[in-house]
Amino acid sequence: MSREIKDSSSSIKFACRKCKYILGEDETKCPHCGGSEFSDEWSGIVIILDTTSELAQIIGAKKAGRYAIKVR
Ligand SMILES: [Zn+2]
Repeated sequence: MSREIKDSSSSIKFACRKCKYILGEDETKCPHCGGSEFSDEWSGIVIILDTTSELAQIIGAKKAGRYAIKVR
């Protein structure tokens, strides 16, 4: 456990192409839909804390987390 990759100048992460869930640094599979197609070309961010909220319903979030507004 001596390897540490941290790029503090960039916080760009990948977003799932299917559901727009923004993945954590160590995630290789979307924890929301199970998809494995990601894009680093996304913009806007929505943070869902409550999946029963109106916003969560609109974007179809079934899991608390961050979602991109647009994914290319
Ligand atoms: Zn997904």
